[in-house]
Amino acid sequence: MVREFGEQRLRPHVAEWFEAARPEDKVPVRELAAEIGKLGLLGMHLTGYGCGGSTATAYGLVCQELEAVDSGLRSLVSVQGSLAMFAIHRWGSEEQRQQWLPGMAAGELIGCFGLTEPDFGSNPGGMRTTARRDGSDWVLNGSKMWITNASVADVAIVWARSKEGVIGFVVPTSTPGFSAREMTHKLSLRASVTSEFTLDDVRLPEDAKLPGAQGLSGPLACLSEARFGIVFGAVGAARDCLETTLEYVGTREVFDKPLAGYQLTQAKIADMAVELSKAQLLALHLGRLKDDGRIRPEQVSVGKLNNVREALKIARECRTLLGANGVTLEYPVLRHANNLESVLTYEGTSEVHQLVIGEALTGVSAFR
Ligand SMILES: Cc1cc2nc3c(=O)[nH]c(=O)nc-3n(C[C@H](O)[C@H](O)[C@H](O)COP(=O)(O)OP(=O)(O)OC[C@H]3O[C@@H](n4cnc5c(N)ncnc54)[C@H](O)[C@@H]3O)c2cc1C
Repeated sequence: MVREFGEQRLRPHVAEWFEAARPEDKVPVRELAAEIGKLGLLGMHLTGYGCGGSTATAYGLVCQELEAVDSGLRSLVSVQGSLAMFAIHRWGSEEQRQQWLPGMAAGELIGCFGLTEPDFGSNPGGMRTTARRDGSDWVLNGSKMWITNASVADVAIVWARSKEGVIGFVVPTSTPGFSAREMTHKLSLRASVTSEFTLDDVRLPEDAKLPGAQGLSGPLACLSEARFGIVFGAVGAARDCLETTLEYVGTREVFDKPLAGYQLTQAKIADMAVELSKAQLLALHLGRLKDDGRIRPEQVSVGKLNNVREALKIARECRTLLGANGVTLEYPVLRHANNLESVLTYEGTSEVHQLVIGEALTGVSAFR
């Protein structure tokens, strides 16, 4: 069902959304969220509150199909379901869950997740955004950058430093003092809205605080959820590149015969298919571990590190086989490769995942 939706509703427009410069031509996030919500894909792996209650593996496969069209469209589902909705589901009060989750699952309300700051990405513990108590209220000040959908969102999950350590808030974006603007000139993930927002004396009642989250483990638990979806998603992007390339080399003639008939081509294609299958199996294995309640964060890191890295290599190799045609938007290959540069960086860079795996293996933290 999702593959059909991707092919019929999304793929015909995705190159235009990627290329668009005028706001009216850009990806219609609100419209798509409502349609994707109707399909039951937003927060589909969460239970209750209008969410689908699916297995993690089924959610992973949905990510794979969406990212086969474009990483930006998978990002929409990841940020809504695994970051914003998951934060409320896992760390929120019963009232917060009832207030926000049904509308977010339906795609009527859009959420974003504000952790990264201009000076703190890989090291969110250094964040400068503050939350201070004022009577029974909280007052937030600071800024967040590189936040998917912040400028179109109804609600922001905001992480801030307080006397109690890092804590999280559910912030309606209509709250006075909250302002967001879209970041432009990206060369990657262009079919996704990326924004920065500032908090200027944003005053919130106590019940806006996520009561279950205390310390960095709050946002990190959400990131682990989103990383899991990327393990599958990256496979989708790579699959689309390889399928496009197989079709291309079958018809493109060089030196009087199809490109597919050259041993150099076949070596590239065989190696890519092997890596793609390995990535797919790794995703499936991690999905089953997660469904069994046995997955550990460092295992998610193995999947995110390997699958995004290999997907990017596949996208670049496919691009070589398409020659000059590979650099246009007529084919999806360089669009995927450019998108995967962001996917390689967000939700923990490759280096961060190497450090997570290294620490798990050696028992020594080498982050600083
Ligand atoms: C399109 C897009 C959408 C995004 N959406 C969101 C969002 O919705 N919400 C959100 O909160 N954030 C979001 N991000 C931000 C993303 O999570 C950060 O960019 C990421 O965490 C990396 O942080 P940074 O860019 O500050 O890089 P830095 O942390 O400055 O890293 C720069 C380089 O240093 C390396 N490095 C860092 N630490 C170490 C170390 N200890 N040892 C060795 N090398 C190290 C990194 O691996 C990297 O190669 C998004 C980013 C992009 C590009």
